[in-house]
Amino acid sequence: MEEEILRRTWAEIDMDALSHNYRAARERIGPGVKYLGVVKADAYGHGAVQVSRKLQSLGCDYLAVSSLDEARELRRGGVTMPVLILGHTPPEMTPQLIRHDLTQTVSALAKAEEYSQAAQAAGGVLRVHIKVDTGMSRLGFLVRGEHFAGGVDAIATACALPNLDAEGIFTHFSTSDSDDPGDRAYAMEQFNVFLSVLDALAARGRRFRLRHCANSGALARYPETFLDMVRPGIALYGLGDDADTLGLCPVMSLYSCVSTIKVFDADTPVSYGRLYRTPDRRRVGVLPVGYADGLFRGFSNRLALWTPGGPAPILGRICMDMTMVDLSGLPNIHVGDTLEIFGPHQSANALAAMLDTIPYELVCAVSKRVPRLYKEHGQVTERSLRILGQDTLSAPTA
Ligand SMILES: *Cc1c(COP(=O)(O)O)cnc(C)c1O
Repeated sequence: MEEEILRRTWAEIDMDALSHNYRAARERIGPGVKYLGVVKADAYGHGAVQVSRKLQSLGCDYLAVSSLDEARELRRGGVTMPVLILGHTPPEMTPQLIRHDLTQTVSALAKAEEYSQAAQAAGGVLRVHIKVDTGMSRLGFLVRGEHFAGGVDAIATACALPNLDAEGIFTHFSTSDSDDPGDRAYAMEQFNVFLSVLDALAARGRRFRLRHCANSGALARYPETFLDMVRPGIALYGLGDDADTLGLCPVMSLYSCVSTIKVFDADTPVSYGRLYRTPDRRRVGVLPVGYADGLFRGFSNRLALWTPGGPAPILGRICMDMTMVDLSGLPNIHVGDTLEIFGPHQSANALAAMLDTIPYELVCAVSKRVPRLYKEHGQVTERSLRILGQDTLSAPTA
C-alpha cells in the first residue's frame, strides 16, 4: 500500500490488545469452558480474517459469523477452526456448508427438515446448533409459555433427523448488558427458560456437547450462564459498558490527518448549510475524512478530535469525504499531522454515548476504503485495504 493512502484516514488494530482481551475473558471463564469468538460483520470492523487467525493461534475454540459468505471468507483466509453461522443460510447451500466444514444454526423444525433433506441428497452430514428463542423474539424455536411443550418436541424431532449432527444448542440474551433490576430479572428469566428446555430434552435422552448463551454482557455479569461455551463479541474488541470492569483494552483506533490549513476571517460560513460561522479569524484544518469513512454526520459541530496540544473541534457539517476542524488554538498542528478520532485518548465508547448509540455501530461503520494497519509488539505486521482487495504486509510496487 502506498504511504500516501495511509496518510489519509486509517484505522490501527492493536493485536496485543486483542490477545489481552482474549486472555482476560479466558481467565474469567476458567479452563472447563470453551470460548467462541464472535467475528461477524468483519469482526466488528476489525478485519475478520486477521482477527480469526489471531484467535486461532491463541487457542480459541470456535468462531461465529452471520452468514455463509462471511464463513467462506474465513476459510479462504486459511482459518480452519470450527465456525458457527448464526444467521439463516438457504438450504440449497447445504453442500457448501458441508464442504467447508461449517456449523449451521437451525431455528425452526421446517428449516431442520430442509437441511436434513439437502444433506441426505449431498451424501454428507451437516453439523448444526439449535437456536432457542427464550425471549429475544428474533430467530429460534419458540419455547416460552404455551409454546414450551411444542417447542421441546420440535427441537427433539429436528435433532433426530437423518444427516444432521446436533452438536450444540444456544440462546441469546436481550438485556444481559444492563444493570437495571428489571433487565437483570429478564435475563435470568431467559436463562431459566433455556435450562428448562435443556432439562426437558435431557429427559428425552437428547443431550448436547455445546450448550451456550453468554454474550459479553453475560460474561461480565452472569458466570452461572457460561455452561459449555461463552460467546463474546464486543468484549473481544475491548468496547462496551463492561470493558472497564473486565479490564479490557480497545483494539481499534481511528486517525485522520490535516490535508490543508486555511485562515478565514470573521463571519465566514463553513461547510454545507452554513451550520457554523467563524466568530472571529480562525485557522481551519481540512481533514480527508467524512461520513463515508465512518465518521458519523451526527458528530457535525459536536465532536472534537484529539491532538497532543488539545482538542480540535469539528466545524459545521461533516461531509462525505471531508471534515473541517478548528486549529486556531493549536499552532503546533501543521499539514500532515495526525488527529485521533477515537483511540487511546478518547474512546469509541464515549463517542457512541454522545450520539446515543453503541460502540458496535461506530467500529462496524469504519468503511472499506479505510486502510487497517495491524500492529503487534510495537510493529506494523500487516496492512489491509479492502477497496483494492489488498491484505498485504508490504505493498507490491506497481
Ligand atoms: C452478536 C452476537 C453475539 C455477541 O454479542 P456481544 O454483545 O458483542 O458480546 C453473541 N451471540 C449472538 C447470537 C450474536 O448475534
